[in-house]
Amino acid sequence: MTTPAKPIGVLALQGAFREHRRALERLGAPTIEVRLPEDLERVAGLIMPGGESTTIGKLLIEWKLLEPLRRRALAGMPLWGTCAGAILMAQRITERGREMDQPRLDLLPMTAVRNAFGRQRESFEADLTIAGIEGSFHAVFIRAPFLEPFADSPMEVLTRVGEDAVFVRHKHLMATSFHPELTDDPRIHRFFLNLVARAEGR
Ligand code: GLN
Repeated sequence: MTTPAKPIGVLALQGAFREHRRALERLGAPTIEVRLPEDLERVAGLIMPGGESTTIGKLLIEWKLLEPLRRRALAGMPLWGTCAGAILMAQRITERGREMDQPRLDLLPMTAVRNAFGRQRESFEADLTIAGIEGSFHAVFIRAPFLEPFADSPMEVLTRVGEDAVFVRHKHLMATSFHPELTDDPRIHRFFLNLVARAEGR
């Protein structure tokens, strides 16, 4: 695997951004924290961490990042949202059957169902089989959403818990309900670096 020439950005407004930086740096990828629209200009790809999607969404507006980030993602910049970050990528967001009107990037044709695993399974771990990744992947879920592609959408579902999609991809955009930055397994971060390398034509 080659490492990107430009750094990978980690959105650092709220949530578990340090863990993502550490995971990328362990793979030899340079990283920067993204807080300003100017920071966005410098990166080859961006990770949006877990946290609280309503808070991160409001901060994206306040810090004038929502529109520039959306524009770059539409123009081909690889973007990976984990948990709250995944919710922000969805075109539709619901919680307990209600439509949520929280700010979002509106990028992926899917419904993010917030806190979908219910109270009994607020936080849990599961060994998942993921398309394109050999062996099983130990995944950590914390108040995680389901990511349901719209009917007939071109999105690829890479893994599910039971019936429910928890890792989806569409071209250079990917979203996971779980938190690969909280375990030592680098394979999902490597998967993202490969998307970045492909976007850079390497
Ligand atoms: N439940 C949170 C939300 O809806 C996401 C939790 C997480 O990112 N771990 O924003």
